[in-house]
Amino acid sequence: MKRVKQRATATLVIALALVLGLGLYVARYMAHGADWAMFAANAALYDNARLTVGTLIDRNGTVLAGFDDDGNRRFAESESVRRATLHVTGDKLGNIGTGALKAFDARLAGYNAVTGAYSRVGRGATVALTIDAELSAVALKALDGRRGAVLVMNYETGELLCAVSSPTFDPENPPTITDGDTRYDGAYLNRGLSSTFTPGSVFKLITSAAAIENIPDIRTRTFTCTGSQTVGGERITCPEKHGELTFKDALAVSCNVAFAELSLELGADTLARYADRAGLLERLSLDGILSAAGRFDEAEADSAELAWSGIGQANDLASPLAMLRYVSAIANGGEAAEPHLLLKTGLSSVLPREKTRLLNEKTASELAELMANNVTAHYGADNFAGLELHAKTGTAEVGVGKPPHAWFVGFIRNEGHPLAFAVIVENGGSGRLAAGGVANSVLKAAIDN
Ligand SMILES: [Zn+2]
Repeated sequence: MKRVKQRATATLVIALALVLGLGLYVARYMAHGADWAMFAANAALYDNARLTVGTLIDRNGTVLAGFDDDGNRRFAESESVRRATLHVTGDKLGNIGTGALKAFDARLAGYNAVTGAYSRVGRGATVALTIDAELSAVALKALDGRRGAVLVMNYETGELLCAVSSPTFDPENPPTITDGDTRYDGAYLNRGLSSTFTPGSVFKLITSAAAIENIPDIRTRTFTCTGSQTVGGERITCPEKHGELTFKDALAVSCNVAFAELSLELGADTLARYADRAGLLERLSLDGILSAAGRFDEAEADSAELAWSGIGQANDLASPLAMLRYVSAIANGGEAAEPHLLLKTGLSSVLPREKTRLLNEKTASELAELMANNVTAHYGADNFAGLELHAKTGTAEVGVGKPPHAWFVGFIRNEGHPLAFAVIVENGGSGRLAAGGVANSVLKAAIDN
């Protein structure tokens, strides 16, 4: 009897171990199955480490990456669309690491936990992006060969409509890029996501949020700008003498003297906290594609460095995507609808969107009003006719002898087109003229759609 009992116990232990092992395997399979299937030596999916399956389309069904009749990888029909969407789509060789062909390979392969990456026709799955291919082509045309990035997003849903980066190339005829060829400097980078830039005066939107919440008399205070101000033995300069100014005027004309005063008063600690809360210092995830983190160094009290850091100079850095998300939050009552690239369809399209609060509602609404005033009082509403525009320019100094980077960020109020944007033209000169012109063309095309 004793022996039978021993055997029964042993069998039970083995059975339990089997169940546990199977459970563990299933759990690991559910968590990592996509990675296991998507290894680059899997000949059903890859040729020389290049994904050979899957069709990528834009929000309107335009094919961004598909196949010809012989099963060869082909990109969009229109060359201008191919160039404009290169950085979101990716290239044949996989040089563009943030491209969808690489980032969403498991989806493109049609991977699921039941059938794995097997597909009956051997062509993988169709994946739709939130991108608007035609609008992207308009944005690239507006950049007119200059280096930079154009991001446009629906601030209510977080759908990224446009993520154009220049320089670019035609993925059907990729150039051989040799070291030092300046025409293709950083051509594999999606500048909107993977690059950070000196924000210049667009950072004043962060300093302004801190001022609104921490300086009680901010709305009645006046500043005096004589064209420059000495701080910590260094001169903080303005492009012109702005004279007597309110806070509202100071943001509209982007007065460095006024913002130097505010920065010194707020202190490095507070400014750093607001840069952090604004999401500028973190790596953002676009459906798993990570952006570059920005930077804000806390300078000593009463130093010129501190004054410049609140003006968006010094060592400040921000990615265009982080700036886009911040102005989207301003447009959206302080909450950022998280930017994403994968178009939600079916049930997922009606589920609530992921949102993150970057600002309190009242501060967001005050900033929105200030940004509307920037346009009507200073940038010229006529220059943006037909757009209910809220914006901030930035002209970021990037070193002696080099033209500054031109920034333009903001949003429009438009019932069918709740759009936010971030434009940067590298060494483009004036924020309003260079980057503002690009934003104007793209937003007009978007609302005419
Ligand atoms: Zn000034």
